Amino acid sequence: MIRDGRDVTKDVGAGEMAIQDARWRAESARLRRMRARDLDARRPLGLVRKSDLRICMISEHASPLACIGGVDSGGQNIYVDQVARNLVRQGHRVDVYTRRDRSDLPAVVEVTPGLRVIHVSAGPEAFVAKEALLAHMPAFAKSCEHWLRTGPRYDVIHANFFMSGWVGLRLKQVFGLPLVTTFHALGLVRREHQGSADGFPAARVGIEKVLVERSDRVIAECPQDWSDLVRLYGADPARLAMVPCGFDASEFTPGSRQAARRRLGIPADEFMVLQVGRMVPRKGVETVVRAMACPPCEGMRLRIVGGEGEVADRQLTPEIGRLMDVAASCGVADRVVFEGRKPRSELRHWYAAADVFVTTPWYEPFGITPLEAMACARPVVGSAVGGVQFSVEDGVTGLLVPPKDPSALADALAALRADPTGARVMGEAGLARARERFTWDGVARGLAAAFDDARLAHAAQSGTSPSPAPALHVSGLDEPSSAAARPGRPAIFLDKDGTLVEDVPYNVDPALLRFTPGAIDGLRLWQAAGYRLVVVTNQPGLGHGLFDRDALARLHAGLSERLAREGVFLDGFYACPHVETAGCDCRKPRPGLLLEAARALGIDLDNSWMVGDILNDVEAGHRAGCRSVLLDVGNETEWVAGPLRVPDRRCPNLLAAAHATLEAGGTAPLAPASASANTAASAAVSSEALA
Ligand SMILES: [Mg+2]
Repeated sequence: MIRDGRDVTKDVGAGEMAIQDARWRAESARLRRMRARDLDARRPLGLVRKSDLRICMISEHASPLACIGGVDSGGQNIYVDQVARNLVRQGHRVDVYTRRDRSDLPAVVEVTPGLRVIHVSAGPEAFVAKEALLAHMPAFAKSCEHWLRTGPRYDVIHANFFMSGWVGLRLKQVFGLPLVTTFHALGLVRREHQGSADGFPAARVGIEKVLVERSDRVIAECPQDWSDLVRLYGADPARLAMVPCGFDASEFTPGSRQAARRRLGIPADEFMVLQVGRMVPRKGVETVVRAMACPPCEGMRLRIVGGEGEVADRQLTPEIGRLMDVAASCGVADRVVFEGRKPRSELRHWYAAADVFVTTPWYEPFGITPLEAMACARPVVGSAVGGVQFSVEDGVTGLLVPPKDPSALADALAALRADPTGARVMGEAGLARARERFTWDGVARGLAAAFDDARLAHAAQSGTSPSPAPALHVSGLDEPSSAAARPGRPAIFLDKDGTLVEDVPYNVDPALLRFTPGAIDGLRLWQAAGYRLVVVTNQPGLGHGLFDRDALARLHAGLSERLAREGVFLDGFYACPHVETAGCDCRKPRPGLLLEAARALGIDLDNSWMVGDILNDVEAGHRAGCRSVLLDVGNETEWVAGPLRVPDRRCPNLLAAAHATLEAGGTAPLAPASASANTAASAAVSSEALA
């Protein structure tokens, strides 16, 4: 877009972005059509779309009740509150599960008919920073399980943020429910932009990867979020749904500039640039302050709303102090006004008073303030990152500039000052765009469609089997999978008896299952590092007629449920049914079970490990092309030697085996470049946090 003889959008490739946007629209339309066809083809008889879903919404740290009465609330509180209310208005029923952070909170609050908030006991009944909450998630999940066992049967679980997602995975596995995840922010994106981990346990990224893999639908909030999920987390585009954030149309509407300025005591003749938001460096407020010092911005005044106190205070909000120093050093201290924090009810007057709203973050998962400004019919100058480049249509509802570029920002602001009519037209176009695409009502409709897609896909996938566990595969009895899975994930193949559970000969009673020492912690480590977990077991009891396939299926379901309660999710369970003398290819030490699983699940055998308690397991692993661990627990008694029977590692238990394999070259298959260095640390924290 040309302004004052300069193409202010050239730097960010506006044309290229438009093409990307168009491609993305075409691709998502194609996927929607494909998904609908696919669902129709595979939908079991009698399964139809529902307009009255019963939704289990999990928001571990952000209660929607915090939005009532102006108590401090962040973006996720607003999102959960608005989405839940609008879903209920559209005929659905919603229970929001959130952590009890005060002892005087009732167990259940009925907000409106159809909308309940359920306070879940997990950890201290007091404020706990969300960075420290992961350790309380097992208790949170346990408490939810109690509610789900005694309460209504839900159609779908909607998890918000990765910790709720962890809880959601467990509930999905135990109750066989479809899971939809909205991340709100992604650990690897933050790491990419800020070069350092956030304050969350390093296990965050591992949990996010498992969620991307296992959720029935993942909500992308903007095209950038979509591409981050695919690029950094290996998300399958067919399971992504694009649903943006929204704004409250009753809260933000256009108002008179003059009236707002009189109310706020702002001179009628100043050219006012408004910045609203949290005071953290990544929001790029420094870029705006520095732009004020550029010649094109001479005479403009920047008003900054935000901070910890009602009055801007450098002690209370150190970032404000830092920005004050920047303003002073640039010689614009008199034109940069820190207004402090304002109640939400007053914000619309600030937007109305502004000539232009500015937001120049380094990166932004979504960003709700540009929508609010647009809803108040003000033009927005934003950085061409994340959700901002999606909400702001460059040259139509405002201008996009590169992040961290005060000079480009100054030119864009000057362009709007020089063309008040054009600026007004942009404000009106912004209002139209906000109302058309970003109302909470529309957001809730988009989510409801994604929930229903997830429900239908989940039902089609499980077919007539009510078991939520991954399919039991008995070699030779069950049809081999015809679908070739996407290759690339390594696995840990686990022998069952004597390795994963104590050896009880020919046992098919789930009640007799006892995990071996360190088993759960070891599995959690592998799972957090991105490995698939696949049981491969010789079950000659089937061939001898000591039990049948159904009995083995019950044992498998019981085992999967027990593991799910610990936050561990099996990817497959492969059994050889033949007797010892059958000469089949699937009975270990032959590699048939591993090879079948690898074909069906897309396993990268070169980077996989076989873990077992006898040398037949070791040999089967080597024959399949994997490395091997022998659990040295006294179960191997014959010690028949052979070149394929020398284990790569010998360990006393599964936890030690997990450490040994990760040290030997743990891979983080979904995002090798950025995550591998953190894999071991992430897994270790995961184990501690969730133990
Ligand atoms: Mg064994």
